[in-house]
Amino acid sequence: MQTSKRHVAGIAAVVVTLASVGALALPLAADNEATPPHWSYSGESGPAHWSTLDAKFAACGNGMAQSPIDLESHDAKPGKAGEFHIDYEKGDVALVNNGHTVQANVADAKDTVVFDGDTYHLAQFHFHSPSEHTTDQKRFPLEIHFVNQDGAKHILVVGVMVKLGDENPTLAPVFRSLPPASSRASVTAAAPIPVDLASVLPKNHEAYVYNGSLTTPPCTEGVRWVVLSHPIEMSKDQVASFSRMFPDNHRPLQKVNGREIDDDTD
Ligand SMILES: [Zn+2]
Repeated sequence: MQTSKRHVAGIAAVVVTLASVGALALPLAADNEATPPHWSYSGESGPAHWSTLDAKFAACGNGMAQSPIDLESHDAKPGKAGEFHIDYEKGDVALVNNGHTVQANVADAKDTVVFDGDTYHLAQFHFHSPSEHTTDQKRFPLEIHFVNQDGAKHILVVGVMVKLGDENPTLAPVFRSLPPASSRASVTAAAPIPVDLASVLPKNHEAYVYNGSLTTPPCTEGVRWVVLSHPIEMSKDQVASFSRMFPDNHRPLQKVNGREIDDDTD
């Protein structure tokens, strides 16, 4: 991809640590019952106010390369095949309701994404309902974010859109084991759940590739996005079992501000 040098330079300039992901990556404190999450998806603590809630959240308001965005297929420049490679395997995940989403923490180090020669390891995946990104203005009922990190703690997120269809057998164990809907933050499902992560992804790894940010406070930029253009299927019941817990945990679309989007293939 022709712009890769510039993108990599942009990433190197901003060191994003998983610690700075805050609530996204770390279960909230156990005493959260007394103090509700500092930010939310509606009202006074909703997306329009994130930048004012904490000085550390300034990028949510003044950032110029924020996520999510609408991905227009006619804007996408063709990338060279093989620029990235996703290699996820079978493994156990631990489910956590962190108050903003259900997050599946991945313990082993076998799941990798190689992008521009750099190896990222999968740390966790989580769900947004409805989808955060749109493709040609189309919004999906669910979007899964696979959060990967390289040795220098740069973040690469693989986004997977979910459309309604057949029951997804690979994700069935996860959706059967969702932490209780009534639970407060930091509630973990009882036992590790086996998931064949390779089978969660669509077979075709064609993707929109662009430079963006975390979609949750502190909205840190320098995040490499690889949003797969082929959706996977999940049943209405599966989608509903998540959206009953989180009826709306998506951040509104952000300005593209002239960023280049590449249409890349694995
Ligand atoms: Zn996310």
